[in-house]
Amino acid sequence: MPVSPVADLAAAVQGGQDPSPIATAARERALADPHGSLISVLSLDQVQQQAAEVARRVQAGERLPLAGVPTVVKDNMNLTGTATTCGSRMLEHYVSPYTATALTRLQRAGAVIIGKANMDEFAMGSSTETGAFGGCRNPWDASRVPGGTSGGSAAAVASGLVPFSLGSDTGGSVRQPAGFTGVYGFKPTYGRVSRYGLVSHASSLDQIGPMATTATDLALILDAITGHDPQDATSLEAPSNFVAELGQDITGLRVGVIRESLSGNTPGVEAALNLMLDALRGLGATVAEISLPTLQHAVATYYLISTPEASSNLARFDGMVYGLRVDGADVNTSMAQARAQGFGAEVKRRILIGTYALSSGYYDAYYSKAMKVRRLIADDFNRAFTQFDILVTPTSPFPAFRSGEKISDPVAMYAADVDTVAVSLAGLPALSVPAGFETVDGQALPVGVQLIAPALSDERLITAAHALERAGAVSVKLAPGA
Ligand code: GLN
Repeated sequence: MPVSPVADLAAAVQGGQDPSPIATAARERALADPHGSLISVLSLDQVQQQAAEVARRVQAGERLPLAGVPTVVKDNMNLTGTATTCGSRMLEHYVSPYTATALTRLQRAGAVIIGKANMDEFAMGSSTETGAFGGCRNPWDASRVPGGTSGGSAAAVASGLVPFSLGSDTGGSVRQPAGFTGVYGFKPTYGRVSRYGLVSHASSLDQIGPMATTATDLALILDAITGHDPQDATSLEAPSNFVAELGQDITGLRVGVIRESLSGNTPGVEAALNLMLDALRGLGATVAEISLPTLQHAVATYYLISTPEASSNLARFDGMVYGLRVDGADVNTSMAQARAQGFGAEVKRRILIGTYALSSGYYDAYYSKAMKVRRLIADDFNRAFTQFDILVTPTSPFPAFRSGEKISDPVAMYAADVDTVAVSLAGLPALSVPAGFETVDGQALPVGVQLIAPALSDERLITAAHALERAGAVSVKLAPGA
């Protein structure tokens, strides 16, 4: 059986090993991290208190599936007593007075949070370069980006700081960085993980999701964090069977390859996709192509839905109740200055686009039309799922690009999301599976393949990944030096 770091560590702590030195060692690694994976590391006290609580509960006879497993969470999730900056000057001095439900559930399952991971400002971007506190580097090649916006969460796992992490995914921000760093990244069905305590980017799209190195570990984490939460009216009442469904075989699984995702890929991405399809066939799956014609409009639709939602969500940051306080001659100057100084360029660009698309003269032409196309995209997926059990695309058309390569060309950056945003618009679950490497300029760079399932069939994806691991077709490698 493959090593499952989360499962193995939890078993050791459940068996009596002291979680405190494990957590402290992870904290030390985080403090010495050369890649900029974290925005902040929790105090030794905060880490040891969590570890002591885990030890106490284990001794009291509780069974904790994540007992003593150290983790980092993206810095847009509230955790009492920690800075939650969202990578923005706007929230530089904000300390969370409460804890996000997903994090409460992680801790309830025994995980020990040691730090808050780097991200693009307010989760806007695809490279983890737009954060106000410095960018994050890809542990496979420090001259390249780790993807975004959960690049810090991905780099932390890929470089062995922690065995798993949480990111958030609005249009691909868990899947794409997972692909760029060679780990698993999973975006659940919209509503399966509570958004309570996750700072909103685009509320109809945002989902928290895990990154890890084995399917077993993903299953343990997902069983812990999914489920209805009375604090989030959009969270769903759905049973979680991730661990229970591991080990099923996938003979007869009908796999559809989305034709629209087959052009424009680098040779290494194409090769990895083909190897993955061969591996699935080898496990008894059938593979055929399917066209989803509306996907050509997915990127435009995503940006006309996410920016209006973001412009509305970010209106609260005016330096009065929320955000950076800047004293001005009067209240209007003060608010204007707070927003001028607090937000970075990409966030301002999105607020402007979003406000424009919602304005009375343009609402019908842009926002309302995008909502209709969103429905057509969801219909296209539903039609495909009458013929197929899962759908497959690359996670990204190319492996990690160089830092600085796309940062001054927003449209090129947005186009990098071509394979992930449609899934988000349709609210579907999707998993980026580490699928091999492409050598670029003499450097091996990870490549991801995305598996997509119907809404609420999240378990099917983890089961498929587990089958691929058992067959030896997928095995995660940590970055050199990890
Ligand atoms: N890259 C996309 C964007 O910039 C997705 C971001 C995300 O998923 N948070 O909006």
